[in-house]
Amino acid sequence: MTRPLLALLHHRVGLPWIFEAAEREGVDLLFIPRPGDTTAPPATEVLIGDALTDPDTLLAALADRRPDGILTMYDPAVPFAARAAAALGLPGVSEDAARRAVDKRALRESLAAAGANTPGYATVLPGGATDRAARLRFPVVVKPAAGFSSLGVVRVDHPDELPAALRQVEAVAAQQLPASAAARGTVVEEFVAGAEYAVESFVHAGRTHVLSVGFKGEPKGPYFEEGVYRAPAVLRDDVLAAIVAEAALANAALGISTGPVHTELRLRDGETPFVFDVGARIGGSGVSHFIVAESAGIDLAAESIRAAIGRPPISLPPLPAHIGTPSATAGEPPMIAHAGNYIVQTGGTGRIASIDGLAEAATHPAVRHVAQFLFPGDEVRAYPEFSGYPAFILSVHPTAAALEAFHQHLDDSITVRYAR
Ligand code: ADP
Ligand code: CA
Repeated sequence: MTRPLLALLHHRVGLPWIFEAAEREGVDLLFIPRPGDTTAPPATEVLIGDALTDPDTLLAALADRRPDGILTMYDPAVPFAARAAAALGLPGVSEDAARRAVDKRALRESLAAAGANTPGYATVLPGGATDRAARLRFPVVVKPAAGFSSLGVVRVDHPDELPAALRQVEAVAAQQLPASAAARGTVVEEFVAGAEYAVESFVHAGRTHVLSVGFKGEPKGPYFEEGVYRAPAVLRDDVLAAIVAEAALANAALGISTGPVHTELRLRDGETPFVFDVGARIGGSGVSHFIVAESAGIDLAAESIRAAIGRPPISLPPLPAHIGTPSATAGEPPMIAHAGNYIVQTGGTGRIASIDGLAEAATHPAVRHVAQFLFPGDEVRAYPEFSGYPAFILSVHPTAAALEAFHQHLDDSITVRYAR
């Protein structure tokens, strides 16, 4: 029997889990590097193309090669993956659902129409009038409608500062996004104060299975560099249930009918979840697989591959939702592990001289993987540009307290130093 061929679109090689899962599933990969990336995994068929700027050529090449499935973890490429799946008769989310997930305006409209918790918001086309947005309750968050990775996202505290902030966000979008994406304008939404959580879910036969809920810190802005991810989150049962229900509602609102979903939300007053970002994909370029595998024992990457090539799931938890519960009583052995990702912050701008403490962290017994993206000699540019994150440190611990303490230790022991 020939092995199925999965097109893996615009993935970064440094994050290994999807390659390991393809091995486990007995699937060959057709690797389509992210434009500008020069590395490809060894012994893997490579196809060159650009889903964002030249989708028609890439679609034609895929139609020639006839893969059995297509998968991406790169947010802006999700609509292309949906389009290609539809054109080639492969499983996938609908083009409409994919578009709504990556367009922050369509996301807001879909969530509001479905009755999900929604902050006040307004949309502004490039160069357009700002007065409606200025009447929202401040502080607000301004973001490109077609943005990702917190590109250009900024908190604005006073209506007087809004026009200048909007024009700056438009300039970032014009510079860093394809023209058609920048033309979609900007979304301004009321700032929802509260801790941030990420939900990893999986949709099968149109129903949402929540796999994990993790804590993402409480970023205050004005810019939103990602920081920590710790799962399972320590939450009251009723609050956890509210989060699970809201994530499922968001999936239904967008019409996501199959595959992995990464959902981000803030918990207002510690109780009410407000979803602000939904990705119809594995989160964090694969980090969500690590989190789910280690904290909930579910092989998210393999399930995602299975769904992409039309195989039925084998390890999904029963409905309505199963979430690992941390051991409540001190002294009891934990039922599941606590998994974390620590993102090293750039902490400055200029040419990196050294990243102190990273090598020591990598040798810590709790650490399972370090992915380094920036190295000495690399240039970190100031906002509004995004130069990437220095490194991810992924670890596993017996308790939530041990994981939190480890992240505090990393805060104290890792420093990015810059040449003057
Ligand atoms: P991106 O798709 O670029 O990641 P997000 O919508 O996820 O954009 O926003 C990036 C970050 O900005 C979030 O992680 C969150 O911390 C913050 N943020 C976004 N929208 C809001 C909001 N309405 N209230 C509070 N914080 C927000
Ligand atoms: Ca986000």
